[in-house]
Amino acid sequence: MPYTADDLAAVLDRLPQGKRDTAFDLVQKAKKWTPSPAQARYIDGLTKEAKGENARPTTQVGDLTAAIALFDKARQKLKYPKVVIQAGDDVIIKLSVAGDNSKNPGSINVTSRDGDWNSRLYYGRIGKDGTFYPGRNADRIPTLVEYLKAFAKEPATVAAAYGHLTGHCCFCLRKLDDARSTAVGYGPTCAKNFGLPWGNEKHSFELPTETEEPEDNEQEPETSWGARI
Ligand SMILES: [Zn+2]
Repeated sequence: MPYTADDLAAVLDRLPQGKRDTAFDLVQKAKKWTPSPAQARYIDGLTKEAKGENARPTTQVGDLTAAIALFDKARQKLKYPKVVIQAGDDVIIKLSVAGDNSKNPGSINVTSRDGDWNSRLYYGRIGKDGTFYPGRNADRIPTLVEYLKAFAKEPATVAAAYGHLTGHCCFCLRKLDDARSTAVGYGPTCAKNFGLPWGNEKHSFELPTETEEPEDNEQEPETSWGARI
């Protein structure tokens, strides 16, 4: 049996601050009208959340030291550093660090690559201690945890793999049109920002061309491409 508005009313104060007004509103409306199926689901979900019943099991993805170091380096230059990686065939996810004003500063948010903050799918977050807290969309990617484990172990390598595969920078998503960039999977500006090697001698026989990259990569590109999930 799903929870009702009365159940929700009893646990309002256990909801996160940001959801209480909506929940209170639903409770008030339910006194006058029968909730629509969507509202009923929402009431049930909010009640479960307040009771802590929909918490999904967490998983350890490993030591995050390398990943945190990568992001810390980038945060000296970028406000919102992010990395885009593969998380399965045709599945692309974005990892970004939660800001100082967020609920869990310093943890790594796992979302879909495309869309604005509103339409992006939230798959969960990795705490600084390497605990992955799956979000409501985590089940959409059965291989998610495996890829997060691989990223924790070798963040730069896993990120670069995306660049090799797609020909787009794994950090700022710009097209890589320089052989040295495609060789490493990211452009020179991002290499500098994230403290990674770029353009070593092995690739110096390739013709160099300038790769334009923005100073700050917090802007999402206008267009989206590749697989959506
Ligand atoms: Zn880049």
